[in-house]
Amino acid sequence: MLQAPAFLWANMILLRKICLRLLSEQGKGFKWGSCFCEKCQRPMWGHGYVFRYFENLTSAVWMKRFRCAGCHVVVTTRPEGFLAGVRTGIESIYNIIRYRLTNGVWPDPRRQRFGHWLCRFMKMARMDFVSMPDPIEVLDFCFQKLIPFFYFKKRATCSSFADPT
Ligand SMILES: [Zn+2]
Repeated sequence: MLQAPAFLWANMILLRKICLRLLSEQGKGFKWGSCFCEKCQRPMWGHGYVFRYFENLTSAVWMKRFRCAGCHVVVTTRPEGFLAGVRTGIESIYNIIRYRLTNGVWPDPRRQRFGHWLCRFMKMARMDFVSMPDPIEVLDFCFQKLIPFFYFKKRATCSSFADPT
């Protein structure tokens, strides 16, 4: 199970360990299993889908949403390892930033997006990890502890990591 400071994760995202390839093949027929509200512990109902892109998939996939009948909260599922609003998996981003910090050059020419990530990572490292002057150390620490290692667009509060199975 992922553990991370709740404030860093986006609101109303339900991370699920899912096979993206299977989801891509099955579409809305994919079996999502049951979902329980973290707050009320009540079962949540299906609440439609959203179309999302993720790296290494040729087309977008349908991600299921759930709604709590008690408190009316709506959660959107997301594959484990993907931050809200970011199509590239955490592991890929980690590898790219680490390569740049270690070698001083980018691993491939799509530099603009990488520069954006590096910039946001460095900002976070300076602000939240003052006691660690080496950015590579900060990056490794965050990656091992499953802490998102760059700032991304803010949503309200925390996420649910409830795994009903
Ligand atoms: Zn609820």
